Amino acid sequence: MTSTGGSRIRCDLDFERGGRQAGYLRAPLSRNTSGWGTVEIPIVVVKNGSGPTILLTGGVHGDEYEGQIAVSRLGRELDPARVQGRVILIPALNIPAVLNDTRLSPVDDRDMSRCFPGNPRGTFSEMLAHFVDSVLLPLVDVSVDLHTAGHSMESALSTNMHYLPDPAARRRTMDAAAAFGAPFNVVFWGVDEGATLTSSVERRGILSLGTELGGWGRVHVEGVRIGERGIRNVLKHFGVLEGKPDTVQRDGSPGTRHMMVRDQGCYSFAPAGGLFEPRHLAGEDVREGDLAGFLHFVEDVDRAPIEVRYRRSGVLWMASGPGRVQRGDVVAVVMNDYDDALAAG
Ligand SMILES: [Zn+2]
Repeated sequence: MTSTGGSRIRCDLDFERGGRQAGYLRAPLSRNTSGWGTVEIPIVVVKNGSGPTILLTGGVHGDEYEGQIAVSRLGRELDPARVQGRVILIPALNIPAVLNDTRLSPVDDRDMSRCFPGNPRGTFSEMLAHFVDSVLLPLVDVSVDLHTAGHSMESALSTNMHYLPDPAARRRTMDAAAAFGAPFNVVFWGVDEGATLTSSVERRGILSLGTELGGWGRVHVEGVRIGERGIRNVLKHFGVLEGKPDTVQRDGSPGTRHMMVRDQGCYSFAPAGGLFEPRHLAGEDVREGDLAGFLHFVEDVDRAPIEVRYRRSGVLWMASGPGRVQRGDVVAVVMNDYDDALAAG
C-alpha cells in the first residue's frame, strides 16, 4: 500500500518493494447503480537492484492502441531478475476512455492530457491527472508516454519532444529518442501547453518522450513493432535492461531522422467543413504549394471542391484521417529536418 497523499486514488502496490507487482489503481467513481463504485486502472511495477525509474504509459487517449498493446505486453513479460532500476507500466491510464474507444473520457468528457497538473477534488480526469503528477512523477526519472494520432489523423511513425532551451537537456532527450529508434523524432513547440502530461513531466525536470505511432482508428502493424522495440530500447539506453538498442529501420537505414515542426506554416487547415480527400500518406515527401487534398461538398450537386495546399516543403508528419472535417481542423502537418541554429532562432 502506497500513501497517495491528497489523492482520492488508492494504490495497493508498494513502489519501493523489489520484484514484480501487478494490480490496480482504484479510483472512486460514484454512479447511479454504484454509489461506492471504483474504476480499476491496471498497473505493473518491476524493481530490482539500482538504477533509474522509467514510467511507461499508454491509453491516455482511449482510441490510440499501439502503446496500450506495447506497454501491457512488456508488463507481462518483463523479468525482474534482468532489471536494474524500476519500471512503472500503465498500459491503459485513462481506462474509461480506453474501454469507450474514444479520445475523451466518457465520464467527464475531458481530454486527460489537457487536465494537468490536475485536481484531487475535480472531475474524474482531473483526479487522475493529479495522481500522476503528485504521486507517480516524483518517483520518475524518464517518462515515455505512447500516443498515436487517434481517429483525427495518421502520423508518420515517430517519437516527439518539446524544444528544450537548455542544450544539455535537449541533447539528452534527443539521444533517448534516437535510442527509442522510431523512423523519425519530431522536435516541436507545444500546443495548448501547461495542461498536458508532457508539461507536468517537464516542470519536474524529468526526461519526457512522446510517440505518434499511427492513427486513423486502427492498429498499425509497424507502429506496434516500433513501439514495443522502442520501449525496450529506452530501458537498454538507460541501463535498466542489458544490451544495446536496436535502431535499424525496416528499409535498412541505420537510425532515427531528427525533424522539427517549427511554426504555424507547417500546418494546413480546412477552410470550411466538408469531406477531405488527402493526396499523400504520412511519411511522404511533399512540396510547398503542392495539393494536400480536396475539400468536397458532395451535398451540392455542382459545387467544385476547394483545393488545400501545403505551406511548407518537407515530410508529411500528420495526414488527415477522418474524412469529414470541420472548418479550422488541421488536415496536414509538415516536418523539416532538425537544425539546431534554426530551432534556436
Ligand atoms: Zn494521444
